[in-house]
Amino acid sequence: MAEPTFSPSLLQSLREAEHIVVLTGAGVSAESGIPTFRQAQTGLWAKYDPQELATPDAFRRNHRLVWGWYQWRRELVSRARPNPAHLALAAMEEVTTHLTLITQNVDGLHGQAGSHNIIELHGNLMRNKCFEYDHPVTAGAEIAPEVPEDPPRCPQCRSLLRPDVVWFGEALPANTIETAFAATQESDVFFAIGTSAVVHPAASLPLLAMERGALTIEVNPDRTSLSPLVDHRFPRPAGELLPALVLAAWPDVSIGGV
Ligand code: NAD
Repeated sequence: MAEPTFSPSLLQSLREAEHIVVLTGAGVSAESGIPTFRQAQTGLWAKYDPQELATPDAFRRNHRLVWGWYQWRRELVSRARPNPAHLALAAMEEVTTHLTLITQNVDGLHGQAGSHNIIELHGNLMRNKCFEYDHPVTAGAEIAPEVPEDPPRCPQCRSLLRPDVVWFGEALPANTIETAFAATQESDVFFAIGTSAVVHPAASLPLLAMERGALTIEVNPDRTSLSPLVDHRFPRPAGELLPALVLAAWPDVSIGGV
């Protein structure tokens, strides 16, 4: 594929932006080897529908099955490393006045890449919390399970622990989503990267940015409902497009320490 090209006006808008907001989805981690939501349905767990596993009811019905599925995902994520897309976004935060990174991903790879101002909309796969009473649990303080396939227990109330992620049917923590909406409300440039833009409320953020008059940019090899609406669309993998874009706008920037 030919090198991507960028209009001078886009590069100028990036350099002059006062607040860039970036929304990322599972596609940004695809090049790190973490399956996107749809790919997750074709792998080892193909016979299970994630929507049937990632719910409080599923955990009540069969906590071993749900815990096992999350342990499998944790193993995948612990082997994964940030890819050039994560590194380019961390570099962009360094050179811009203000960048807010809102992610739907629970894999923690943006933090590993060096991004700081991150809103993890859907939680973090590597943390646990108490299933019954929401007690936050410090890693290492869990009570080990008597049966190895079971989740550990909460040190405060002995309820089962669960992954600290937002399940289907659960509300996002109010302060998290409010901060994401407030940042979007004041954005002058808004990126939607590697998201199918169907899971709400995250999918409302690009629409709010458009309403507010921000310059909107989509990076996704496939078309989405946002594609006809954005100002710039790049149908390429994020790991290829983002480093090229960041280097075109800020030629002296160092990406991933090189
Ligand atoms: P999605 O699976 O619905 O969509 C992924 C999108 O990424 C697709 O539109 C696809 O075309 C695009 N894509 C694939 N490869 C890409 C690449 N290399 N570069 C750019 N785009 C690429 O994911 P979603 O929109 O994030 O929503 C699904 C939900 O599943 C999210 O809420 C998320 O929490 C969860 N999830 C998270 C992870 C993770 O943490 N890495 C993985 C799977 C699912």
